[in-house]
Amino acid sequence: MALPIVKYGDPVLRRKGERVGPVTDEIRDFVALMLDTMADARGVGLAAQQVGRAIQLAVVDVRGVKDRPSQLWLDGAEASVDAFMPLVLIDPVIRPTGEKVKGPEGCLSFPEIYGDVERPGEVEVSARNEQGEEYRFKAGGLLARAIQHEVDHLNGVLFIDRMDAESRTEAQPDIELLMAATRKVLRK
Ligand code: ZN
Repeated sequence: MALPIVKYGDPVLRRKGERVGPVTDEIRDFVALMLDTMADARGVGLAAQQVGRAIQLAVVDVRGVKDRPSQLWLDGAEASVDAFMPLVLIDPVIRPTGEKVKGPEGCLSFPEIYGDVERPGEVEVSARNEQGEEYRFKAGGLLARAIQHEVDHLNGVLFIDRMDAESRTEAQPDIELLMAATRKVLRK
């Protein structure tokens, strides 16, 4: 079952997520709903805030993207990205590394809005999965970008905050229209 996706203008997108802590059955059910919602929307990632809940939980799946490569390292050895998907990131802690790379981004909470965002090219991640098990890995390419985008959501930070000036100027009228439309729906 797919949940409705919150659009920009809803204040929940600006809320920092609370720590999940112990992984309960309720959280596992919520993870399943988030995975369904991400797949249904053909998204690369989804944060809890995007379905109306401010907690430190996000899901990522880059398997649908063939034209932008991803890399994954486990204990320093390159591993299969696809075999590691979908990713469930509960209470993730990340350390971005590597040179900054500029690339296009979109967001399910900003339909039809895209822009270039510069981010570190690699990221070290530690998180827990839906079984409550801790795991660590290092990501590169699109996967590193997607994880940083989602962890930003968990802290109330949005990709428009990091968009380069040119993209932001170009997207600004659409961003304002989206916010106005969302606010109108929320007032009802
Ligand atoms: Zn997003």
